[in-house]
Amino acid sequence: MSAELNSKTPFDRTESTVKGYGRTHPSGKWPGGAKVAVSLCLNYEEGGEYSIRNGDAFHQRDFHEYENGLTAAMPRPGVVDPAVESQYAYGSRAGVWRVYKAFTDRGMLLTLYGVASALKHSPKVTQKAVEYGFECASHGSRWIQHGTITPEEEAEQIREGLKIWSSQGPVPVGWFLGRPSKLSSYLVCEEYKKAGLPPIKWWSDLYCDDVPHWRRRPGGTKDEGMLCLPYSYDNNDYKFSQPAGWRSPKIYSDHLIAAFDELWAEAERTGTDKMMTIGLHCRVIGKPARIGALERFLDHLKAKGAWVTTREAIADHWAGLYPYDPETAW
Ligand SMILES: [Zn+2]
Repeated sequence: MSAELNSKTPFDRTESTVKGYGRTHPSGKWPGGAKVAVSLCLNYEEGGEYSIRNGDAFHQRDFHEYENGLTAAMPRPGVVDPAVESQYAYGSRAGVWRVYKAFTDRGMLLTLYGVASALKHSPKVTQKAVEYGFECASHGSRWIQHGTITPEEEAEQIREGLKIWSSQGPVPVGWFLGRPSKLSSYLVCEEYKKAGLPPIKWWSDLYCDDVPHWRRRPGGTKDEGMLCLPYSYDNNDYKFSQPAGWRSPKIYSDHLIAAFDELWAEAERTGTDKMMTIGLHCRVIGKPARIGALERFLDHLKAKGAWVTTREAIADHWAGLYPYDPETAW
């Protein structure tokens, strides 16, 4: 029986997954003549990070404002660090609302990458996202290294997360964990199946292209596919919290505009529309000095006529143009 099922891990490195589409890829043919579809993903992690209070052995060490990766910020097992915790809480208290406003002021949409155990403390964040028409996607139930827990524990966390998301808003149709285990995509597909939910529409734990592609659904039959929308660390605001990262808001917005303009120019030259992904974090881009970099970029997108939308809308559009075909999927 198992021979008829797809592999549980569709991320093996083969000649064809490395090669991808090759020199040319299918065109997104986005609505309204836009040459680039832009997906801005707001990671909502605050409260779901490593914390003694979450039952972890140590607290979160990095992705905050000071001493990232240095010995002073090394976790001391079993010891709460209020300085780190409250730096995270800046995102859930102040940052998230500033980022939301940047989008609603311009009538633009984002995809919320919600960590379920973080949203549990802030149902208003989901409530407002739904009200604004944002997509509520999954960033896992906990914001942790999933390779460090057993598949049974991971499945249990997925079930726990589904309870939280569905109590606040729609069940996520797309997933990005950031630190998946080898089996994460399989376990998510299985838990959706067991819960009687429709299959997910997109999976983003990969970084290998500018446009979507199909893979066989892990553990599914040959006729079941999983649309992959590559994520991006290139355009990610997290580098503000890295010692060698973005040195100023101006540098960050220049980088985003350069990436977008190049994709737009390539699309015009080749006739194949592209996609761009930008990762954002409430406690990072939501700081007063940095929000202007995002606003400047959003204004540029508006002036150029980009399709700024959710990952779900992009996945629906792509799947409509290019339905899953087991013969060409990876
Ligand atoms: Zn994240």
